[in-house]
Amino acid sequence: MEPHIALLPSAGMGHLMPFLRLAAMLASRNCKVTLLTAQPTVSAAESNHLNSFFSVHPHIQRLDFHVVPLQTSNPHGDPFFLQFEAIIRSVHLLPPLLSSLSPPISALFLDIAAATCVDQLADHPSLSISYYILSTTSARFFSLLTHLPHLTLESSCENLKLHGLPSFSISNIPPPLFNPQNLFTTQLISNARAISRVKGVVSNTFHWFEAETIEALNSGKTSITLPQFLPIGPFKPYEDPGKCASLSWLDEQPAKSVVYVSFGSRTAMSKDQIKEIGEGLLKSKQKFLWVLKSVIVDKVEETELQELVGRSLLEKIEEKKQGIVVKEWVKQEEILTHHAIGGFFSHCGWNSAMEAAQRGVPMLAWTLNGDQRFNAEVVEKAGLGLWPKHWGWLGERLVKSEEIEEKIEELMQDHKFRSMAQKVGEEAKRAWEIGGTSEKVVGQIIEMLKL
Ligand code: UDP
Repeated sequence: MEPHIALLPSAGMGHLMPFLRLAAMLASRNCKVTLLTAQPTVSAAESNHLNSFFSVHPHIQRLDFHVVPLQTSNPHGDPFFLQFEAIIRSVHLLPPLLSSLSPPISALFLDIAAATCVDQLADHPSLSISYYILSTTSARFFSLLTHLPHLTLESSCENLKLHGLPSFSISNIPPPLFNPQNLFTTQLISNARAISRVKGVVSNTFHWFEAETIEALNSGKTSITLPQFLPIGPFKPYEDPGKCASLSWLDEQPAKSVVYVSFGSRTAMSKDQIKEIGEGLLKSKQKFLWVLKSVIVDKVEETELQELVGRSLLEKIEEKKQGIVVKEWVKQEEILTHHAIGGFFSHCGWNSAMEAAQRGVPMLAWTLNGDQRFNAEVVEKAGLGLWPKHWGWLGERLVKSEEIEEKIEELMQDHKFRSMAQKVGEEAKRAWEIGGTSEKVVGQIIEMLKL
């Protein structure tokens, strides 16, 4: 009989998108799939995506999970972390919800950001199921997370050597992790503790891209016992109706002439920094498609955009016809697939990095916060692009337009990046061919789910 699998994503598009892709993949492999949708969602993009996803995947069941909201006066007010926390604190509502499903579920996939839910669910008498984690970050950052409860970060040493894993540079670890009072850190630590209780960790990466780390995670030689690490990336895009408006402008541009500029779904930059980016793009003389929207609300109004970028800069962009500024959510995967795109100026969120890898689009990585430096290390090592490390974390310093101009030119004009990225794209495709590394692991997961 087909296994019935439930999935519970956490908040934020960088978490939701890989869950939707995994859900679609499991459903295409004869699993019955129920997606638990934490309500209320944090952003309009999330609820729009969910609606359009279920409209094209009617065979995937939707089950709303009404979480108990936290006090928004919380001093650590990031709405995404508050939602992770709300999901974790509402875990007692899950057993009756999960037990009501028919046929009974055999497994639950949890987000790495809410992995600690396993601690309570695994001991619940009414649930006899297996647990899996979907890791929405690089294997490299995941491997740091696994050791988090046991880490003492010595700022005097430059490299961190965790037994059995490749070493990490301390300066690439996001600064909030050095502060045990930080909500982000305490969440990560309790999630990390739960990792050893799950049956497997499914990850949107592929063997060739992170071979050393993946092999180390599965070697049985790490200083802590870990479940099987199951790399099945790059995740395939799922069917998504409707065309992205910016594609008509791209259609008019020559092949590989446009740099796509986007810093993910949740990064807010200062006005000064936004202006430097705009000036840098103009000075570079490269064509560009720049997505600029507020966090959470998913789009900005014209007046807000003028306020953010400056009216004169917007007029200059329009007058020079060198690029366009997009004010709302775009279909990034469609843009990255477009023949006019020659480079991607990105914050190096893991989904963005994998989407670029899949299509062989070279990246200029400007790592702003979170796991991004770990991701950029992977990108750089694989030859997928360049990473100006000295640009620092977001807000550490103002990256000037001249620096941006120089790196954009390097990305778009130095053809070595293009050919190396193409090689990455070929390896990504190979991972999914019959007998390819990711394709084989998917088969293995389906067998595990049938047990
Ligand atoms: N994304 C998109 N359109 C946008 C902004 C983001 O489709 O306008 C998608 C992008 O393709 C990726 C996800 O949202 O799948 C963002 O995840 P990522 O890990 O790159 O960054 P985060 O937003 O989590 O920082």
